[in-house]
Amino acid sequence: MTEIIRINTDNNKDVIKKCADAIKGGGTVVFPTETVYGLGADAFNPEACKKIFIAKNRPADNPLIVHISNMAMLDDVAYIEDDLREKMKHIWPSPLTLLLKKKKSVPDIVSAGLDTVCIRFPDNPIALALIDESGPIAAPSANISTRPSIVDSVTAIKELNGRVDIIIDAGRVKYGVESTIIDCTVKPYRLLRAGAFTVEDIETMIGPVYVDPLARGYSQSKVALTPGLKYRHYAPSKKLFLIEDENKFREFISSDLASNFLILCSEENSQYARGKALILGRDIYEIAHNLFYDFRVLDSSDKKYGVIQSFPEEGIGFAVMNRIRKASFLIIKDKDNIDKINKVLNEA
Ligand code: AMP
Ligand code: MG
Repeated sequence: MTEIIRINTDNNKDVIKKCADAIKGGGTVVFPTETVYGLGADAFNPEACKKIFIAKNRPADNPLIVHISNMAMLDDVAYIEDDLREKMKHIWPSPLTLLLKKKKSVPDIVSAGLDTVCIRFPDNPIALALIDESGPIAAPSANISTRPSIVDSVTAIKELNGRVDIIIDAGRVKYGVESTIIDCTVKPYRLLRAGAFTVEDIETMIGPVYVDPLARGYSQSKVALTPGLKYRHYAPSKKLFLIEDENKFREFISSDLASNFLILCSEENSQYARGKALILGRDIYEIAHNLFYDFRVLDSSDKKYGVIQSFPEEGIGFAVMNRIRKASFLIIKDKDNIDKINKVLNEA
């Protein structure tokens, strides 16, 4: 049985206490962060962490992120260089996750047997209050594996009711894309996952970061940057087609064929749409905020397929494009002919 608790200013303290007790007692709690909803358990309790993998249907070789709410907790779970620790005091809480050498206290199930662990200090008052009470929480995104991340409580309840002990209903999250992950065990640091914290900001605040071309989200490469990335990710159930060239996108959405597609695009491009257009947002932050939500709108729409445009890969747009590419069934690159879509549909 899952308990669903709507949180507000009146019941805040009691709810946090109840959820922290559940975590300390070996249970699982779905909680909001500033990026997406997380599915958490006591990071020091392997049996509890196992429940996360079962609830999400997550492969055991895809490690979890350990969430902390102060710097003392960091020292309980990982090793960090002094100067980086000093800088992080000013950068956290924020959607920047660090990969560090792990301490023995972190069980193998959390790190999938690796000697490193991902550490995150989320910038969300509910998450922080919960971790303050419970201690470090191991959590991946709350979605069932391969599905889009969950950015609102209605979806959290739909997807996880019956699979976890408690779901905190806290409405919509702030960013809508996951945290940025950088590997701090190598120099220069290396981007493992693009996310809500921009690479530009990381570089000004902590120094150069190596960005592998794979971080743009093309190809399900066998040389995954991080274990999680070798799996299919973020995908709606319906086939999504990405058309990267703007002119080709406009041409396609104004053609007859587009009537079978839900069109996900900017306001500006929506005027070219023959089928039904879903405007993702007015700026890239709004687009990030709506992306996963709208993937689920696609799934519940009466359209057979989805088609989406590309956005400039700057700032949070880098993470947005990474997610769109990973979620796409087919990518029409600039040099490709859009007839490729027809071909794929005829073959299917
Ligand atoms: P998510 O599952 O949605 O939150 O993702 C957690 C991400 O952190 C996954 O992509 C993991 O592969 C990554 N991750 C966690 N721990 C490690 C680790 N020790 N080494 C590399 N990546 C990690
Ligand atoms: Mg995830």
